[in-house]
Amino acid sequence: MPYTSFHAHFAEIAKEETRAITILREDDVVPKGSYGLLEMYCDDPDCDCRRVFFEVYDWERRKSIAYIAYGWESAEFYRKWLRMDDPQTIRELQGPALNLGSPQSRFAPTMLDLVRDTVLKDPAYVSRLKRHYQMFKEKVDPKHFRKSGAAKHVDIAKPKSKKRKRN
Ligand SMILES: [Zn+2]
Repeated sequence: MPYTSFHAHFAEIAKEETRAITILREDDVVPKGSYGLLEMYCDDPDCDCRRVFFEVYDWERRKSIAYIAYGWESAEFYRKWLRMDDPQTIRELQGPALNLGSPQSRFAPTMLDLVRDTVLKDPAYVSRLKRHYQMFKEKVDPKHFRKSGAAKHVDIAKPKSKKRKRN
């Protein structure tokens, strides 16, 4: 599963719609500052994994402090997708979890808690992630993705896609 940043394909939208977590207090576990949740999506053709990778980026010190994986679908969805009933793997696919194999800083576990307990509790933000995923997939794999039916699971509240409707 190769992952590419959302920013690489949609720089303008990423600028507007990338969320950050701000740490205000000096005595918090994570140093004071603004941490961007840079989204990455899988650009593997034919893959409809419905997950996002966050690179948690410390704007001030210009470095990544955590990589978090999150899949918004149900355990049932990932079980079918995996074609295997492996609860441990399914939990990892769903996350949110620190991604194994990515470099993590000592602040990563705290960031994971923050992401889980704040931004991912916001349904509007989760909808935004789904919308970004769909835009991304239509860009990297237009043929397959439109066929796959993934679109119907995504509530497109915002921008009009170029999709034409037959009456
Ligand atoms: Zn994928």
